[in-house]
Amino acid sequence: MDAGARFPSSLSPSRASDFTTCPLLFRFRSIDRRPEEPSAVAVRGTVIHRALETLFDLPAAQRTPEEAERLAHAAFEELEESEPEAAATLRTGPDGAPELAAEPLLASYFHLEDPRRLEPHARELEVTALVEPDFRLRGFIDRVDRAPDGRIRIVDYKTGRSPSAGFEAKAMFQMRFYALAWWRMSGEAPALLQLMYLSDRSVIRYEPDESDLRATERRILALRDAIERAADAERFEATPSRLCDWCSHRAVCPAWGGEPPPLPPRSEWPTSSSRSSQPEISE
Ligand code: SF4
Repeated sequence: MDAGARFPSSLSPSRASDFTTCPLLFRFRSIDRRPEEPSAVAVRGTVIHRALETLFDLPAAQRTPEEAERLAHAAFEELEESEPEAAATLRTGPDGAPELAAEPLLASYFHLEDPRRLEPHARELEVTALVEPDFRLRGFIDRVDRAPDGRIRIVDYKTGRSPSAGFEAKAMFQMRFYALAWWRMSGEAPALLQLMYLSDRSVIRYEPDESDLRATERRILALRDAIERAADAERFEATPSRLCDWCSHRAVCPAWGGEPPPLPPRSEWPTSSSRSSQPEISE
């Protein structure tokens, strides 16, 4: 990174959420880029997302639960080739067969909607939108639908359970982030944001308006400023919470008696807060 360059130059919803949860976690993932143990939950999420993406490659009449399950197994085999260590997290039992457990999640998906009645506008869409001359939003949207009247719906699949009461706004932040990116890229404000939770067959929908999206932009820019201040001061505080139970960095976290490694020199920081050395795993 250039000595005078601002950091971060871009932000995804995942990295924004990291900083909000724990600035030290953000540092480990975005600056140190420490490797992390793949988790079975995250790997299963990636396989299900891939199956739901490729399901729409098929002619509408062939988009059945059986085909979706076949695609999930094909996605798992691809993962075994490309990331055998991650795929191994789903291997259990004496015969080493994968415990993919795709069927109940895919059954939930078919309970929530009928893919034979849909033709998505885009799937696994990479978005990147400049919101200031030196700062952009980026990420991947699971699905974008366009209604016959032109209205846009942004859809995200979650293989976990829906958030409990009071936590829906946090879950919807990611969707507002994507809606803002879409709006800045295309000039069209999405009409509907839809989160589909496959573990408990629930859907959260929200209709944003332009004032919502402007408020989201202000919030993201304030977060960018907070990250920049932490970076300039080289202080990324550990903020323990119940999420520490799933954190790969406890051994080097002061909240757990560990010692973080020295912060790399700023000239060696990545130019963005992406985590390119790590696969982006979908849950
Ligand atoms: S263990 Fe907890 S406090 Fe430490 S870096 Fe991870 S999330 Fe943050």
